[in-house]
Amino acid sequence: MSARIIDGKAIAAELRAKIAGEVARLQAAHQLVPGIAVVQVGDNPASSVYVRNKAKAVAEAGMRAFDHTFPENVSEAELLTLIGKLNGDAQVNGILVQLPLPPQIDAQKVIASIEPDKDVDGFHPLNTGRHASGLPGLVPCTPLGCVMLAKTVLPSLSGLEAVVIGRSNIVGKPLVQLLLAEDATVTVAHSKTRDLPSVCRRADLLITAIGRPEMVRGDWIKPGATVIDVGINRVPGEGRESRPAGGAGKYKIVGDVAFAEAEKIAGALTPVPGGVGPMTIACLLLNTLRAACAQNGLEAPQIGG
Ligand code: NDP
Repeated sequence: MSARIIDGKAIAAELRAKIAGEVARLQAAHQLVPGIAVVQVGDNPASSVYVRNKAKAVAEAGMRAFDHTFPENVSEAELLTLIGKLNGDAQVNGILVQLPLPPQIDAQKVIASIEPDKDVDGFHPLNTGRHASGLPGLVPCTPLGCVMLAKTVLPSLSGLEAVVIGRSNIVGKPLVQLLLAEDATVTVAHSKTRDLPSVCRRADLLITAIGRPEMVRGDWIKPGATVIDVGINRVPGEGRESRPAGGAGKYKIVGDVAFAEAEKIAGALTPVPGGVGPMTIACLLLNTLRAACAQNGLEAPQIGG
């Protein structure tokens, strides 16, 4: 058996096209152009790549991007002052602060200073609480993208055994809430979980958000299961994503799942790259569109499930 490959790039492109259509309609009907402010501190190369990709996707969707870049030594007070201004700016519907932040800045304090209705990353404690209580609110982009991808091959998650490896605030925990809302039976595994391979073998839906290259082997997977691989791991070698790494050879990007092994046993599987990553950006656009509608008393378009 060879798993069906879930093409996150194509699915994300389709979602982005629908979002662009809604943005055009919003502009024509209400003269409203959704805007997102992206705040970056320092010039961490990985963050810069994400920020550039986000800016490109925002422009392609017909939205406005407001970029704010600070040097690595910016003070927390300066950052909080900017967030305060963005909170009060009607042209800015979404605020995203690129993480990680340097050590002199309390990231939780910065996140908590964002107006919750503009928190398009869905990391504000109020949105986390709303989400955990089943109330409407902005949901973190990567978990949202994972569930959308799973639903392209599993029309209903109701009653399925879902196993999530990873319990971070940005991926694992919000994913659990989303899967519960879909009526899945959810197990969360982490570094202290005993006999992880047997826990994984129970899963009809296995989602890995670990950050360990190819840790999940083929024989950990239940035959026919759907596997969503969130991990982004840089390892030495040549591949589709090969680039010089600081002149010290080449690297490629792999996921948390040993793809070649998993492909032989899973029913459906996301590739890395080209799986969850593109969905994260598409979901950021979706959250910005939803935020813009909510802030202007308009009903959000029914796209993205
Ligand atoms: P964190 O490091 O915050 O969390 C990793 C989780 O994996 C923790 O809960 C940890 O357990 C668990 N873990 C680590 N080692 C093991 C192990 N040996 N066995 C079982 N569990 C283990 O990472 P994130 O959640 O931020 O990200 C996870 C991965 O997803 C990374 O590769 C990241 O780059 C990627 N990512 C991809 C995105 C995308 O858009 N595609 C977006 C965000 C992240 P414990 O809690 O016990 O320490």
